[in-house]
Amino acid sequence: MKYIIILGDGMADEPIASLGNKTCLQVANKPNIDKIAALGRNGLLNTIPEGFAPGSEIANLSVLGYDVAKVFEGRGSLEAASMGVVIEPGEMAMRCNLICIEDKKIKNHSAGHISNEEATELILFLQQQLGSDVLNFYPGVSYRHLLKMKGGNKNLICTAPHDVPGTAFADVMIQSGTPEAQTTANFLNDLILRSQALLENHPVNLKRAAVGKDKANSIWPWSPGYKPEMKTLLETYTLNSGSVISAVDLIKGIGVYAGLKVIEVEGATGLYTTNYEGKAQAAIDALRTDDFVYLHIEASDEAGHEGDVNLKIKTIEYLDARIVKPIFDEISTWDEPVIIAILPDHPTPCAIKTHTKSPVPFIIYRPGEKPDDVMIYDEFAAEKGSYGLLKGAEFMKNLINH
Ligand SMILES: [Zn+2]
Repeated sequence: MKYIIILGDGMADEPIASLGNKTCLQVANKPNIDKIAALGRNGLLNTIPEGFAPGSEIANLSVLGYDVAKVFEGRGSLEAASMGVVIEPGEMAMRCNLICIEDKKIKNHSAGHISNEEATELILFLQQQLGSDVLNFYPGVSYRHLLKMKGGNKNLICTAPHDVPGTAFADVMIQSGTPEAQTTANFLNDLILRSQALLENHPVNLKRAAVGKDKANSIWPWSPGYKPEMKTLLETYTLNSGSVISAVDLIKGIGVYAGLKVIEVEGATGLYTTNYEGKAQAAIDALRTDDFVYLHIEASDEAGHEGDVNLKIKTIEYLDARIVKPIFDEISTWDEPVIIAILPDHPTPCAIKTHTKSPVPFIIYRPGEKPDDVMIYDEFAAEKGSYGLLKGAEFMKNLINH
């Protein structure tokens, strides 16, 4: 038995007035996904446990069957795995954004979506100026980087910079969650200020400012954690091998800890311009040898964050025609049955441009199994599916330990 999960990041939504109170999934033309909903069984899945914000890291860990409260150690630790950086016992990792500050306020969390080349130069400069035996910076993709320190205390209250555009940065600096973490909080806040002094007039930023681009004039460390202790999917389920395909470091990092091979696809951008055909082909190729493939497509989430309804509909139609169709057409001809699951990790409603905790619609199509009565795929149709409302790890248990 083989399995593929096709995850359309953030593709669930709320009814939108300009669409006649329908959701993007209800309006999008997606005959292939609808066909699989009709052939399979459907339901809703709660991916965000009590007490957690609806981040992609939390939601994807839940989809993959992990108890987030037990295993989650911050974004930095997960992304580190994708970047090939090992977190040793006694070390703390944090996501380290390059952000733009203007008039002492956070203008944006991405330094105007700074390019990899510019960002890498700045992060390496910070490493040279601020790095030490106990503190290291590692360049990642665009504004998303990694900070690792020896001996840090993770009991910190940090603010995700994408949640607070327009806020004075001094109001949302790092606080200690326990008295023991005060030294770490002080150290990191001092580091933010030192980065600002170093970055403000760096040639990369002067050049960006000259052409009207946002400066990357501060670091912003958040989401602290230690080395994650995650069992692999191969240890937990009856699987011999698996792969993950994603443009996003966070998802690839989760895949590494989950014991999946990371398959890189040229032209995978995480946007609607991504190499859909390449990702579909990579998934098909992986399924020839692996038992399990996690295929993550980021584009719908980005469209949701931009509040672009038409683009979000287009990303769903691309997922349908350029991912789901070629995969379904190919694996339908194989002797060995492939079980297909389709779902998002969380909704990213265009109206609010950020994630919510609402349950997401899912399909599990098991060739040969009697389907339920659901004929199409969307947030409301799935409610009537035979799985009902599942929570966290129940999804993987139903998918694999059937
Ligand atoms: Zn997501």
